[in-house]
Amino acid sequence: MPINSQTACKFCGSSELNSFHASERMLGLGGDFTYADCFSCGSIQLLTIPEDLSPYYPSGYYSFTQLQLSSFKTRLLKSLRMRAFLDFGIAWKAPMYGYWLKKLRPRLADRIADVGCGNGQLLYELYAGGFSDLHGYDPFIAEEKQLAPGLKLWKKRLEEADSKFDVIMMHHAFEHMEHPDEILKACFEKLNSGGQLLIRCPVADSVVWKESRELWVQLDAPRHLIIPSVNGLKLKAEQIGFSLQEVEFDSSDFQFWGTELYRKGEILDVGKVSKYFSTEERLAMQKKALQLNQEGKGDQACFYFRKPIKA
Ligand SMILES: [Zn+2]
Repeated sequence: MPINSQTACKFCGSSELNSFHASERMLGLGGDFTYADCFSCGSIQLLTIPEDLSPYYPSGYYSFTQLQLSSFKTRLLKSLRMRAFLDFGIAWKAPMYGYWLKKLRPRLADRIADVGCGNGQLLYELYAGGFSDLHGYDPFIAEEKQLAPGLKLWKKRLEEADSKFDVIMMHHAFEHMEHPDEILKACFEKLNSGGQLLIRCPVADSVVWKESRELWVQLDAPRHLIIPSVNGLKLKAEQIGFSLQEVEFDSSDFQFWGTELYRKGEILDVGKVSKYFSTEERLAMQKKALQLNQEGKGDQACFYFRKPIKA
């Protein structure tokens, strides 16, 4: 399909784009969605964004699952574990926030925002770990909620927040947004000077994308509206004023078995994984993911940005 000459890469601005088609595979809804990948920076964007995306987010989608609360005793254990983890690097039963929290090294009193927080489970774990100023933003949640003392979920966009933060994070939410420019500017504006931005998202640098194209499980048409390359996101964020501190790849075996399920014409049915793949094959996939992460070729990454301290 010829691309309108007005269309530009949302990350680097180049108009040299290559279009391709993809269909909805997670649920098996099909359809025909036109994406483009950029010749210059490699980033991917959806050109034909459905006016109503709600049919593609069924009620079982992760944002709407039930929050798992912890008892007082469990919270106490979690807070001890958090202290041991942050202060001494000790992690037993590797916590879900593991590696990236260790890199961010926030103080327990820091004001932290999670953009695209869904049911707030991640913030709740931070609360249980001892953090006390936590804010979730998600315009798609049913209602605003004070989940715990010092933990509020806001039914709004980050742009509408009335305070500034020490840390803003997005865990696999960025790729669901239409305008990287707008959300990055909002993050910059809502961060205190010296504040940190963590973006975890799929990346177009991956081997699995290059080899499998529209079958790549994390292309996830039409839910993923943008998928940056490392260079594309770096460029765009630096243009806004951020400095990129580090990129850490954190892909898993999901990139292989998810993509293979699609190649076999299946939907994303986790129950089918054991039907198609032996334990040895799964282990080999996990090993390969670790290797690709080290080479910067896994299919998702964590970007650690900082808003510079004004001189
Ligand atoms: Zn580009």
